[in-house]
Amino acid sequence: MSELSDGPGAETIVSENAPTELLRRSLLSFEPDALEAEMIALGLPKFRARQLWGWVWRHGVTDFSDMTDLGKPLQALLSERFHVDRPAVSRRQDSSDGTIKWLIKLSDGQEAETVYIPDDGRGTLCISSQIGCTLTCSFCHTGTQRLVRNLSVDEICGQILLAMDELGDWPATRPGRRLTNIVLMGMGEPLYNYDYVASAMRIIMSNEGVGVSKRRITLSTSGIVPEITRCGNDLGVNLAISLHAVRDELRNTLVPINRKYNLKTLIDTVRAYPGLSNARRVTWEYVMIDGVNDSEADARALVRLISGIPSKINLIPFNPWPGTDYKCSNDETIDKFAKIVMKAGYASPVRTPRGRDILAACGQLKSDSVRLRASQMAAVRDAEVVHS
Ligand code: SAH
Ligand code: SF4
Repeated sequence: MSELSDGPGAETIVSENAPTELLRRSLLSFEPDALEAEMIALGLPKFRARQLWGWVWRHGVTDFSDMTDLGKPLQALLSERFHVDRPAVSRRQDSSDGTIKWLIKLSDGQEAETVYIPDDGRGTLCISSQIGCTLTCSFCHTGTQRLVRNLSVDEICGQILLAMDELGDWPATRPGRRLTNIVLMGMGEPLYNYDYVASAMRIIMSNEGVGVSKRRITLSTSGIVPEITRCGNDLGVNLAISLHAVRDELRNTLVPINRKYNLKTLIDTVRAYPGLSNARRVTWEYVMIDGVNDSEADARALVRLISGIPSKINLIPFNPWPGTDYKCSNDETIDKFAKIVMKAGYASPVRTPRGRDILAACGQLKSDSVRLRASQMAAVRDAEVVHS
């Protein structure tokens, strides 16, 4: 046993019976209060948690020996018990448009994807919340992969730290930081992994750390009604809803969770989402599928359905994947649909297609077991209609 006084508020550092390698826990899953409690449980003063937090979340330090104000004995103790490892990168792909996609490998060998999309001074990271998805939306590639498991808090946070490492974004306060926004639009249904997603977002929103504000975080859901309200109350992040159909009969097929939470329930819940205003609108995602949901009558029904709710509308041309029978609507149909939406008071900046050459577009994310070839990407386009 060694007993050492280390810095202000002398503490006893006990380093016998060090846990084995397998028991080292990830520090990335501790919220500030839990980290304090952990320090106290180790017989350390509370302020150690603040110091550690700063090294991990403000400076992105991964090696305890670089945490210079902790002193060597404390560094040794912490590194015996904890780690701050990021997920491993199996592959990084850079698109010609600046989009970057990482295939990440988790400690149990499972894989997930994270995508960085730079855009006009801001940079958005699209993160995954699950491996696979329990839901089976008929147009979504991820939906064809069964749920393997939820991602843990440290795996969700780890995607953000990994991207900041690779983008050279430390310290988190550096001017011109490249990662500014986060969207939960990767693999999985975030509201079916609510507790871990919420904890990870609280960590990421902390002003003493990475400090991405709730206004710069958007959570996309297929419509898990009870969790939508909870998310608004607890986290207050921006909300995006995968709508895709304006009639229950059709939405039951495209987004089968609609059988449980139908359109009326969903719309009523979104209407009451805490904090919605003209400055903070909900985004309605609507994938354009040829001959399925893209008629002019659908467009008119869409604007009627959401009327009175502060909204943006994202029209997303369907992104094809091997084995699907759906096709993307043609340009003329998308145009007509967009015009009706615009006439109802929505502007329509068309978003440049992003990451099409590396398969990083909406709904194309899937673990490495099933991959598309670049040649299959020829038809992929992307557009966005945003309420003015
Ligand atoms: N599970 C959540 C978040 C992940 S999906 C959700 O469903 O909202 C992210 C977005 O991509 C959703 O709007 C989804 O409907 C859309 N999407 C899925 N497959 C697509 C495809 N093949 N083409 C275009 N968008 C797709
Ligand atoms: Fe799951 Fe979202 Fe894909 Fe539906 S669209 S299968 S909810 S990832």
